[in-house]
Amino acid sequence: MKKALITGYRGQDGSYLSQLLLAKGYDVYGADRAGDTGLWRMRELGIEGKVKEVSLDLLESTNINYALAKVKPDEIYNFAAQSFVGISFDQPVLTAEINAVGVARLLEGVRQARPQARFFQASTAELFGSMGSAQKNETTDFHPRSPYAVSKLYAHWLTVNYRQAHGLYACNGILFNHESPLRGEEFVTRKIAAAAARIKKGQLEKVAVGNLDALRDWGYAREYVEGMWLMLQQPKADDYILATGETHSVREFIETAFAAAGIKLEWKGRGLAEKGVDAKNGKVRVEVSKAFYRPADVKELVGDANKARKLLGWAPKTKFNDLAALMVDAETKRLEGKKVKP
Ligand code: GDP
Repeated sequence: MKKALITGYRGQDGSYLSQLLLAKGYDVYGADRAGDTGLWRMRELGIEGKVKEVSLDLLESTNINYALAKVKPDEIYNFAAQSFVGISFDQPVLTAEINAVGVARLLEGVRQARPQARFFQASTAELFGSMGSAQKNETTDFHPRSPYAVSKLYAHWLTVNYRQAHGLYACNGILFNHESPLRGEEFVTRKIAAAAARIKKGQLEKVAVGNLDALRDWGYAREYVEGMWLMLQQPKADDYILATGETHSVREFIETAFAAAGIKLEWKGRGLAEKGVDAKNGKVRVEVSKAFYRPADVKELVGDANKARKLLGWAPKTKFNDLAALMVDAETKRLEGKKVKP
């Protein structure tokens, strides 16, 4: 029986991956911040209590080393992170401590205590930042535009370095945005899906968002964790992009999610005065607020996952419209107290 250790296991990706690995017969160990955060994901996935908890915090070397010695994992997936781009502008130091130096602590622990383990680092499309609008591949240069992206850049290169310098089987999955009903509500897709469902049920009047024109490559997270697992099953460690190759604006996501909730939106006004209005009754449902703008935003991200397609046999299946619809459907079911199958 293979043993996997997942840091940040109660987050969106950690919980989907836990479910996948449990189904494959792995012995799954998970580390996360103390408290109940994220246990709802395990409940909805039907895997509550199935992952063995270990105490491991990326801010603390001693318990990383202890956890590695105790678990002796065959595969390690690092999802633990300060994962909100917006917050990183207010907490750049903490973001770096966890996302950058934390990965140094972890990789160094692996090198010393468990060098035969295969290591996956959740790297990010945010590394590309302002590299223009063309599709990004594994050879595109990086130009990070947030403290989050800068911290992840360090972790990315350190993972490459431990592979090259110490021969670790260490991979970066350069993940473009991947969403699901298990996304945290701070992220724009889940925030919008939840708002659309609540507005439809008469439980919310309107929602405020930031930059409507940001363009992202949005896939379905459940499919992305398959790609991550595949990266650790190859003869040789390497870095791969996971992406859909399609780009859509935040505005389009809002239109699509509201349409899935049965609300046709029309846009009126411009800039901060722009509003999404219910075409049927003229009620304002979406507003723009400066509070949700970032000091520097990434205008457009779209990825080319051909390498993963060719070498891993991985391909995204769920389309943008279906992703928005399945997220709104899950939110509606939650409001109705029905079972959600995320
Ligand atoms: P990210 O790509 O990992 O930062 O994922 P997010 O879902 O947080 O943001 C995606 C894009 O949506 C970014 O360009 C944001 O600026 C934009 N956006 C627009 N309005 C909002 C909002 O209300 N919340 C968030 N989180 N992002 C928003």
